[in-house]
Amino acid sequence: MKEKISIVVPCYNEQNTLPKLVKEVKKLRESLKECTIELILVNDGSSDQTLSVMKELSAVDHDISYLSFSRNFGKEAAMYAGLCNAQGDYIAVMDADLQDPPELLIRMYEVLKTGEYDCAAARRTNRKGEPPIRSWFAKRFYRLLTKISDMELLDGVRDYRLMKRSMVDVIVNMHEYNRFSKGIFEWVGFRKCWIEYENTPRSSGGSKWNFWGLTKYAIDGIVNFSEVPLSIASWLGLFMTSISFLAVIFIVIRKLLIGDPVDGWASTASIIVFIGGLQLFCLGIIGKYLAKVYLETKKRPHFIVSETNMGEIKNVG
Ligand code: UDP
Ligand code: MG
Repeated sequence: MKEKISIVVPCYNEQNTLPKLVKEVKKLRESLKECTIELILVNDGSSDQTLSVMKELSAVDHDISYLSFSRNFGKEAAMYAGLCNAQGDYIAVMDADLQDPPELLIRMYEVLKTGEYDCAAARRTNRKGEPPIRSWFAKRFYRLLTKISDMELLDGVRDYRLMKRSMVDVIVNMHEYNRFSKGIFEWVGFRKCWIEYENTPRSSGGSKWNFWGLTKYAIDGIVNFSEVPLSIASWLGLFMTSISFLAVIFIVIRKLLIGDPVDGWASTASIIVFIGGLQLFCLGIIGKYLAKVYLETKKRPHFIVSETNMGEIKNVG
């Protein structure tokens, strides 16, 4: 029997890119005749005609399935829903905008077929076509996260990858609500091979990420995979306590030696403001972790599927 590759594609307002993607996947089928390739399109609450386009595409090609969310749950949830419902022996995650070149999948499949690896993951060697400021921050973020977590996150790593069933089973069984897939893919380990390629611009439309969205994504990545900010907060607390202890001794001695001059209110006020700010900052860090714990304990589903052509599926997960 032929081996099956499932390609999971999260889609948010991708009505123009989907037909192009399907055309590319057809080409891929020509090159990978030894396996069947199924496409799982996940409509992440798009506000354009993405769902109708998915229905049209799946009506003419029975290897195309779709899952449609009841609202926008985000790319992480869309990927998770696809992974939960993919049946393939090999499973890929791919963006809809053709920024993840579909032809790379041929190399990925060849790599996995050798049996030496469990995952073949794409990595961009450059960030051509991306705003320089975004590239700058992204590079710093990956370097920082590598330093403060116990994973190695390389710059330019994409979610785009082909994985063996065994690896996906483990990922699907990680039910954490706050998902940061790049971290999860690293965290689970397994034997990984990097496939490098040059960045390609989006086939149409624009990136769904704005600066604020990316900042939140970065903070999520850090909070989900590192406890270092919490340690920073406690070390800062310890440091400030020691300083204030010394300051108290200094003030007492000064009072005993030279009495109590009235001046010095400006420096006192600055110190109060500074310490107050620091305390709020540390509380903020703790609050961020607490908020994550709060969300995890609620055990809300990651996604809700309102429509699909896949039959019996995991529609709330
Ligand atoms: N996406 C999604 N839900 C969202 C935002 C994005 O499913 O809320 C999908 C989007 O349709 C695309 C992929 O995630 O297939 C990557 O999005 P985008 O191209 O905007 O990100 P970038 O390539 O700029 O990182
Ligand atoms: Mg993109």
